[in-house]
Amino acid sequence: MASGDTERTGNVIVISGPSGVGKSTICHRLCDGLPAEFSVSVTTRKARPNEQHDRDYRYVTPEQFGQLKDGGDLLEWAEVYGHFYGTPLRAVKEAVGEGRAIILEIDIKGCMQVRQKMPEAIAFFILPPNSEEQARRILSRNTDAKDVIEQRLAKADGEIRFANESGCYDYFVVNDDIDDTVEQIKKLIAAKN
Ligand code: ADP
Ligand code: 5GP
Repeated sequence: MASGDTERTGNVIVISGPSGVGKSTICHRLCDGLPAEFSVSVTTRKARPNEQHDRDYRYVTPEQFGQLKDGGDLLEWAEVYGHFYGTPLRAVKEAVGEGRAIILEIDIKGCMQVRQKMPEAIAFFILPPNSEEQARRILSRNTDAKDVIEQRLAKADGEIRFANESGCYDYFVVNDDIDDTVEQIKKLIAAKN
């Protein structure tokens, strides 16, 4: 993004955290409770049974992803758990240009790229109350194969450590009660604006 486009970036809100911690639930609740839109990422991962194209993700082939990346159409991108994910630049640019808030549910590598381009973005890292509860939530979602769940749970501790060390996040929020979590995030966003 050109430097002239970065003047007003306080409305870019990043939500990251380990798998199953409640990121999607939080993002959708924030979009309902704030004048904010959800940034629909592109991904090479297959849709889960409960997901919809253009609402949860835009599902693309690896070739299409490569074209978007090489064409400069992505604000940031990363390989996460063996699939590619990226944030379409245009929607973020439009929201920022028009002073609207936009919520990016992205991983730590993506957050680091956003931070470089948009230092004023507000970044939250969501933590589980404990690892047993995180496992219970992933299982309750019932959308991933056992090996996928195990792979994602195994990465959680490292991700939390990496998030701490990255210096990328403004706030670490434990998602215990969902209503409290959403209220807390809304207050922190309001305080920063
Ligand atoms: P993520 O996007 O981080 O992978 P999800 O938002 O899909 O996680 O949440 C995983 C599961 O946990 C879902 O079934 C969701 O309804 C549930 N969940 C989310 N937040 C909470 C919470 N605070 N307490 C209990 N269950 C939760
Ligand atoms: P899931 O497959 O569970 O939807 O997401 C897996 C991981 O990819 C999560 O950590 C999520 O935050 C991350 N992710 C989703 N979209 C993007 C994106 O556009 N960019 C980056 N960098 N990560 C993303």
